[in-house]
Amino acid sequence: MKVRFTCCNCRESFNVDAENFENKSSLVCPNCGSEFPSDKLKILGDAVLKIEQVKKPLFKKGRLADDVPTWTISILDSTGEHY
Ligand SMILES: [Zn+2]
Repeated sequence: MKVRFTCCNCRESFNVDAENFENKSSLVCPNCGSEFPSDKLKILGDAVLKIEQVKKPLFKKGRLADDVPTWTISILDSTGEHY
């Protein structure tokens, strides 16, 4: 799972892998250097890791011993929707 960030200062968008949140203490826009609030980053990181804990067990073993999803979930932010 990835989290998509959009910097509203320069409109740059970039993705961060969920597992990278574990040790992340700061996040800056790669284009203009705007910093994401570190206290919010901590809360977001905790939330993302919790979602990952939910998503991981949503698989069962298929006939070929492959992992078959029983559910998939997506988090959609209505303020960031594009049509
Ligand atoms: Zn930016």
